[in-house]
Amino acid sequence: MSKISKIGVLTSGGDAPGMNPCIRAVVRTAIFNGLEVVGIKQGYKGMIENDMYEMGTRSVSNILNLGGTILKTARCLPFRTDEGMETAYQNIKAKGIDGLVVIGGDGTFTGALRFSQKYPDIAVIGVPGTIDNDLYGSTYTLGFDTATNTVIEAIDKIRDTADSHDRLFFVEVMGRDSGAIALRAGISCGAEAILLPEKSTALADLIDHLKNGATNKKSSSIVIVAEGDKTGGIYDLAKAVQNEITHYDIKVTVLGHLQRGGAPSSFDRVLGSRLGFAAVNALIAGQSQKMVGLEANHIKLTPLDEALSHHDFKLESDLLQMVEVLSI
Ligand code: ATP
Repeated sequence: MSKISKIGVLTSGGDAPGMNPCIRAVVRTAIFNGLEVVGIKQGYKGMIENDMYEMGTRSVSNILNLGGTILKTARCLPFRTDEGMETAYQNIKAKGIDGLVVIGGDGTFTGALRFSQKYPDIAVIGVPGTIDNDLYGSTYTLGFDTATNTVIEAIDKIRDTADSHDRLFFVEVMGRDSGAIALRAGISCGAEAILLPEKSTALADLIDHLKNGATNKKSSSIVIVAEGDKTGGIYDLAKAVQNEITHYDIKVTVLGHLQRGGAPSSFDRVLGSRLGFAAVNALIAGQSQKMVGLEANHIKLTPLDEALSHHDFKLESDLLQMVEVLSI
């Protein structure tokens, strides 16, 4: 028998396509199992400010195809304090909530873990919802596939114009700490080079590589730079390369927030549905302080502290090696 009777669901941190399919799955799985569900607005802020509402099966109609999150999201500083957590606890207790599904990234999970350690009578399950794909315990996080496809669509268009004008484009993509989007998009678009936070690149090596491309009569080149790359800001980088390579006219494009938007891909709709369904079933089974993830196409539960402690996990090294070979 389930000890849980009322589930609160929230989205927190950066929004990611696939959060809505996940919310829908949480609501409907809970109701199917005879539980009540409360939607908490703007992540932990809604817990502190008592901004919550009862959700029914129809309150999540026609949201599978929507980007962003119908619950809205926020970064909430007061939740980091003991007072903020206590207010949040009192508010959700008053509503009768005894289980939480938190959809977000590593910051969200850090908050969730602290909260459930302080108040163990509230069971907490995390769903990895971040375009960064940087959580241990799930091969993919919600939103990563859609964001990567958005980047690919944009870079394919950039390639058309680059090719027509013999141009070299530096394209900045999201990823302050994670090069996951840069790497996948780079392989998919045949980028000549990919600069990532996880791997340092010597400017001289990059210039040599691009010069070789020009010598080999490449009509265009694309260099993808993740936000967190440490070689230098994208504009300074482009200037430094332009000084050394006159063959190409060099341009810079920063893709920015368009990477977060858009309808979730088929992959993210299915992933969001599976993880939301699994999160509620985990709460019903009496689990807490765990993250639901997908590994080898199976649902897996990972303790939140473990999901967080492997923060320095590396990108697939075979993909990194392959980029150099395939861009000759
Ligand atoms: P993304 O990966 O998309 O940035 P995230 O979940 O990592 O998502 P953060 O802004 O880092 O996003 O964290 C979301 C929220 O989690 C914060 O605004 C804060 O409310 C809460 N949080 C983060 N760290 C802590 C902490 N140490 N203690 C309590 N709450 C925290």
